[in-house]
Amino acid sequence: MHITIPEAVRNILARLNQHGFEAYAVGGSVRDSLMGLLPNDWDITTNALPDQVKSCFAEQQIIDTGLQHGTVTLIYDGRPYEITTYRIEGQYTDGRHPDSIRYAASLAEDLVRRDFTINAIAADAAGEIVDPLAGMRDLDARLIRCVGRPDERFGEDALRILRGLRFASQLAFAVDKGTAESIHRNKELLCNVSAERIARELTAMLCGKNIYNVFMNYGGVLAVVIPELTACMGFEQNNPYHCYDVYRHIAVSVAHVLPEPVLRWTMLLHDIGKPQCYSVDAAGNGHFYGHNKASSRIAENVLGRLRLPRRITDDIVTMVKYHDLPLQGTDKFVLRMLNKIGEEQFRRLLEVHRADAAAQSALGQSEQYELIARAEAALAEVLLQQQAFSLRDLAVSGRDIIALGVSPGKRVGELLDLALESVMNGLPNEKTAVLHYLRELM
Ligand code: ATP
Ligand code: MG
Repeated sequence: MHITIPEAVRNILARLNQHGFEAYAVGGSVRDSLMGLLPNDWDITTNALPDQVKSCFAEQQIIDTGLQHGTVTLIYDGRPYEITTYRIEGQYTDGRHPDSIRYAASLAEDLVRRDFTINAIAADAAGEIVDPLAGMRDLDARLIRCVGRPDERFGEDALRILRGLRFASQLAFAVDKGTAESIHRNKELLCNVSAERIARELTAMLCGKNIYNVFMNYGGVLAVVIPELTACMGFEQNNPYHCYDVYRHIAVSVAHVLPEPVLRWTMLLHDIGKPQCYSVDAAGNGHFYGHNKASSRIAENVLGRLRLPRRITDDIVTMVKYHDLPLQGTDKFVLRMLNKIGEEQFRRLLEVHRADAAAQSALGQSEQYELIARAEAALAEVLLQQQAFSLRDLAVSGRDIIALGVSPGKRVGELLDLALESVMNGLPNEKTAVLHYLRELM
């Protein structure tokens, strides 16, 4: 069996070979190639020590990216390649970092320390596959299976629990029975894993195509890292517009939205505050007044705890806050939203509404889709006509207002805001018209 190795990788492997070292492509790139997918980055494993790797590539740039793991990054033809010396699994007394790094003598030993069989397949410079752990068999069976004994492997590094589910989601693979049972048994170990590592795997998992099944089969695992989900599980909505409990609604909506981190996280969090906002009306229908605020508060907490970057957190929290805002198909509404959250976020918001509707009962669904389509059409129109929705677009500036006799200061800003408000409500965005309007106000 054999795969195509890109020229740069082939050259890197050949160079190491010429210096008398063994070298293989390994991990995700080999796995993806065997699946007919295009690999993102090629990782290389070798028996050369980091210093020996450096001397093989004396004229290339090499960065010490992870010497504690025996890894250097080679910049070759302008692209980075991680080259890691064969390693043996270290002891993880804290469940996070190996205490010490121990080099291994053979490729076989290095493959044994890897997480899953499908990630423990190597290929040489000619693309010939080396697969002592039968990773190809699991790849064919579309199975995530630990290398070695799952309990031991998750005990060494609990992040592997989430990695397993991340690959199950991304590749749409099932989890081998023994590995799945061990995941459930060991889920609490995730409490020892750093927030950043958890967040990275969660984001990738959320963006996978099989995320619905991960939600439904591994809710207990997700709840270890996001305990706020527990209250949603089995929480019935008792409302004709809903056909799922809150948790399943969340799962269906995540699976329906485009696989982009902000959107997937938004759907995960959009209704998470519902259980604490539940009330029942006289007719016996359930309501969740104010759940967007409760959910956005929880979203802040969850994302802060997981240390997601501030920018993405802000975007998600905004989406959660507006997720149930009634849409309108008018220019006025669209302009107001563009003014508040900008075009990119408003487009996202329409996707959020779409996914939310898709995860509800058929009652009222077509009306919701219709409204989304009308808002989308209004957006296209507003953008086509280049209507003003921010101070930047306004035909007058602060300087024009000062020229009217207003002294520089807060009042200038207030007048600009009023002018924009009027333009968004239909006043022509022309200098004379706006100045005339402002003079009336003064
Ligand atoms: P992706 O395509 O998402 O990059 P990948 O399999 O390459 O997937 P990486 O996180 O880049 O995943 O890791 C590269 C390889 O290193 C994995 O394929 C696996 O062999 C090994 N590996 C990574 N993290 C661990 C871990 N926590 N425990 C054991 N082996 C790991
Ligand atoms: Mg990788």
